[in-house]
Amino acid sequence: MTIHGVLDARERGATLSRLATERFDVLVIGGGITGAGAALDAASRGLRVALVESRDLASGTSSRSSKLVHGGLRYLEQLDFKLVYEALRERDLLVSKLAPHLVKPVSFLYPLYRKVVERPYVGAGLALYDAMEGTRRPVPHHRHLSVRGALKLAPGLSPARLAGAMLYYDAQVDDARHTLTVARTAAAHRAVVATRVSATELLRGPDGIRVTGARVRDEESGDEVDVRAEAVVVCAGVWTDLVYDLAGVRAGYRVRMSKGVHVVVPREAVHADTGMIVKTDKSVLFFIPWGERWIVGTTDTDWSGDRAEPAATEEDVDYILAAANRVLARPLTRADVIAVYAGLRPLVSSPDGNGSKGARGARGAKGSKPTTKVSREHVVDVPVPGLVSIAGGKFTTYRLMARDVVDAAVGGFDRVVPASVTEKLPLLGADGLAAVQAGAPRLAEDYRVPQAVVEHLLGRYGTLATEVLDLIRDDPGLARPLAEGHPYLRAEVAYAVTHENALHVEDVLMRRMRLFIESADSGTGAAADVSSIMGRLLGWNRRRRAAETRRYLDLVAAEQTTTVIGSGAVPAAALAGATAG
Ligand SMILES: Cc1cc2nc3c(=O)[nH]c(=O)nc-3n(C[C@H](O)[C@H](O)[C@H](O)COP(=O)(O)OP(=O)(O)OC[C@H]3O[C@@H](n4cnc5c(N)ncnc54)[C@H](O)[C@@H]3O)c2cc1C
Repeated sequence: MTIHGVLDARERGATLSRLATERFDVLVIGGGITGAGAALDAASRGLRVALVESRDLASGTSSRSSKLVHGGLRYLEQLDFKLVYEALRERDLLVSKLAPHLVKPVSFLYPLYRKVVERPYVGAGLALYDAMEGTRRPVPHHRHLSVRGALKLAPGLSPARLAGAMLYYDAQVDDARHTLTVARTAAAHRAVVATRVSATELLRGPDGIRVTGARVRDEESGDEVDVRAEAVVVCAGVWTDLVYDLAGVRAGYRVRMSKGVHVVVPREAVHADTGMIVKTDKSVLFFIPWGERWIVGTTDTDWSGDRAEPAATEEDVDYILAAANRVLARPLTRADVIAVYAGLRPLVSSPDGNGSKGARGARGAKGSKPTTKVSREHVVDVPVPGLVSIAGGKFTTYRLMARDVVDAAVGGFDRVVPASVTEKLPLLGADGLAAVQAGAPRLAEDYRVPQAVVEHLLGRYGTLATEVLDLIRDDPGLARPLAEGHPYLRAEVAYAVTHENALHVEDVLMRRMRLFIESADSGTGAAADVSSIMGRLLGWNRRRRAAETRRYLDLVAAEQTTTVIGSGAVPAAALAGATAG
């Protein structure tokens, strides 16, 4: 049962029986950022909401992004002003009010190589970018830098051809943690959130047309139950067409899969005190500061393979390293690579598969009026009464996507439902953050832990950090670090079970914490300890603990075989990162 935003894995049985016995206004299929956002949007309007996710929250694209909350300079260059404007406002809202504990400003240096033409062009773009911000301005304005100024901030840049730089600001987030926090906030508004539960069939009403819920399968036991809801909202990302197949209806759009790969390298491999963005022949390459590491990427190639486990190839890694090395003084080599991860962008195209974004054509039940509404970035589709879907968009604009898809769902209700309130709704852990941050030294004293521990926890849980500290007070052994050289504590493993719905070792090592992409051994060295801490809470016997550890090691090994990197020059364990992120 989910109470006050607590997703306790030990209460999973009660959660599943609520799915079977309650009648919901909205059933959300998919627990990525869009589905979590839709559940929060609907629940905070006072609706009865259930969310089912076939694997773990954020296990799809929403843990494999570049982890930027940004307007996107690239879209500005494509003259997509509306998208940039909306995304920048969302960025500012998240940084200043909705999730300041999770979404944090980050600076990017944009090196210039053509003295006369480039500076006015990029400068004008960045001035426009800044001008599109709202009145809150939680991130500083852009600045012009000389060659000297650029090299002072980023000594790792090669001085050859460098003509100066611009410095501008965006924001970054742990995408999986943000998705989890949105889902927990939905649970705080009484949404029922169930993971490892897949929709396998859509239920129809007496007229044989209206969708009235879904049959769902518990992936842990194989049991199936029917979940009744007035509207089913599909937020299944690159799986959307498969869910449409369950309903036997045609979508008003198609989702095209575009693979994006990132590599993770140690912080010392690139000498810079700021993030960087460089132009490439095809797009842009980001160097994104990520704790003691850099995330470098990304690529953009069509994908038609396995949706759950997209694989990075040798060419992907080589492309990223070559693009990076065009601007670095000390080239990156495969030996620098700690991990590689790949994700799939759910890009929207028209039903015949041509073009993008302009998808139209789905018709409502009444037959005449097109019911596919297309915005520049995301598409909402109502193929039959009771069924609504959304695809496309960006992580940054999830709140707007959620609002739009819930508006479409309640548009079919025969009663008035309040408008979205999420613009005014801080996520769990955000309210009162400034005071808790100011009181960090006192918290450290009270809980007898170093202040660095408190700061680490505040940066991940906001004001909920005290819940993790309470676990340490009850069992001081949980204050110990989980893995050498990483800030995560054993208490965070326990908390992942009792408050964050972690059911298996991979949920903890891949998404609640990011050792899968941050550690050269993909977190395998910590797997047995994670299994043991989880097992104590979930009642696993010795055999089950060993099996859960083995499951993680097998998963990592399987990732290695799906990742096609021939030379073996990248550390084998690093390749396991190919499907996380
Ligand atoms: C490489 C890359 C970099 C990116 N970088 C950025 C960035 O920096 N900033 C930004 O704003 N955006 C970025 N994006 C885009 C952003 O990550 C995506 O738009 C967003 O994560 C999509 O979320 P989603 O919830 O729609 O899909 P997903 O996260 O994929 O969620 C869909 C979920 O549905 C579940 N599901 C599927 N079928 C069923 C079923 N039958 N029953 C139950 N559950 C089901 C899946 O398991 C999955 O978890 C990036 C994307 C990629 C690939």
